Amino acid sequence: MLVGAYIHAFKLGGIYSTGETKKMKITQEHIRTVIGELVGLDALPAVEYLQDKQNVSEFIIAEDLDIEIHEMRNILYRCYEHHILVFNRKKDKKKGWYICYWNFNADQIPHLIQKLRTQKIKQLSERLEREEQNHFYMCQSACVRMDFDKGMEYNFHCPECGEVQQLQDNARTKEFLAQRIKELEAQETI
Ligand SMILES: [Zn+2]
Repeated sequence: MLVGAYIHAFKLGGIYSTGETKKMKITQEHIRTVIGELVGLDALPAVEYLQDKQNVSEFIIAEDLDIEIHEMRNILYRCYEHHILVFNRKKDKKKGWYICYWNFNADQIPHLIQKLRTQKIKQLSERLEREEQNHFYMCQSACVRMDFDKGMEYNFHCPECGEVQQLQDNARTKEFLAQRIKELEAQETI
């Protein structure tokens, strides 16, 4: 199922480009990524179940998915923490207690996709900076990788196998990180 949603395109570094909106199509893959990274894949059936439904009682969801009600509530509330699922609480007239009726909040998915992407770019950029500003040392068996200070501590001998450590050429690591950052930045303008 494709859900159309508008997101604000923004650039790295937290500079929001004002007034500019881009259309992003939410795919099942986006939903899977968000659930997998933020909630846990055990929540995916509930989210998929609610995608084409509205205001479904938690008891009905639990019954249809054959999940015990306490476990079901735990899953639903974990999704609610990220506003992927939202609910209306209504009093059951006959029984007198409150029941939560759940909905899938499609608009939240692009925000979360963007948030995850920004976090990843930040992590990778920090990693790249570390690679650029340090020298790394390893033995030939590549047991442990150490920066200069750590290597000094061990007198440039591997603590695992005792071999002499050599300066590692990290050009490929840097290239890989830079490429990955570039890919993620390009994705932001989809
Ligand atoms: Zn070693």
